Amino acid sequence: MGDVPLFSRLPRSPARYRVRMTATCVFCAVAAGEAARSLVYEDDLVVGFMDIYPVNPGHLLVAPKRHATSLGDLPLPTGCRMMEVALRVADAIQAGPLRAEGINLFLADGEAAGQEIFHIHLHVIPRFRGDGFTLRIDYDRAPSRTRLDEHAGIISASLRGAEA
Ligand SMILES: [Zn+2]
Repeated sequence: MGDVPLFSRLPRSPARYRVRMTATCVFCAVAAGEAARSLVYEDDLVVGFMDIYPVNPGHLLVAPKRHATSLGDLPLPTGCRMMEVALRVADAIQAGPLRAEGINLFLADGEAAGQEIFHIHLHVIPRFRGDGFTLRIDYDRAPSRTRLDEHAGIISASLRGAEA
């Protein structure tokens, strides 16, 4: 599924978009039970299924049943349900025999963030010491408090604008 956004060449017409979407989106097919899947959980809004390229055994994905390309497309109740289910399966993983000294929840929204399947999904990843999975953080590039306050102001102003 690689580097090219799957839906970049789709027509703009919403009706045709929906039709093409179910025909081309692998996670829509998984959600509908039309593609091979190892199902963990299903309800009216979301499905949970095993990642076919797991970071560690037990790595699964929680995704909306109804197609949403990005976080911006995701209805709030569906996003809340995704998190609720992720929390429950994280508990279930840690209560079971699969190795999990910790859990990462990870979501990539957009190609620049590492999204490869353009049907939004939340990773639940069992973790243990020495498993080799890393997110790199450069601690030498910590910004000043002034800069942090500036960024906080920008975001909170935008948040207030969105609520108005
Ligand atoms: Zn989809």
